[in-house]
Amino acid sequence: MEHLTRMVKEMIEVIKAILIAIGFLVVAYMFSLFLADCAKSIGDWRKKGCKIKCLCKHEYDVEFANSLFGEISLKCRKCGKKK
Ligand SMILES: [Zn+2]
Repeated sequence: MEHLTRMVKEMIEVIKAILIAIGFLVVAYMFSLFLADCAKSIGDWRKKGCKIKCLCKHEYDVEFANSLFGEISLKCRKCGKKK
């Protein structure tokens, strides 16, 4: 009887270790998915350009030039801010 109890205890320990290992694997897998998703969204974000004006490193394009008044309108190609 004592021998059986010890076996059951050992089995429980083994099952616990397996469950912890599976838990770690799942967490690691979720984390890698999350990182991949983050990297992808950051890549998309950098390609499309930042829509948040205060964080935008503006790249102005000349939108129109008014030769009468000597005015040039500049528009940021990333966020659409005009200058
Ligand atoms: Zn901008």
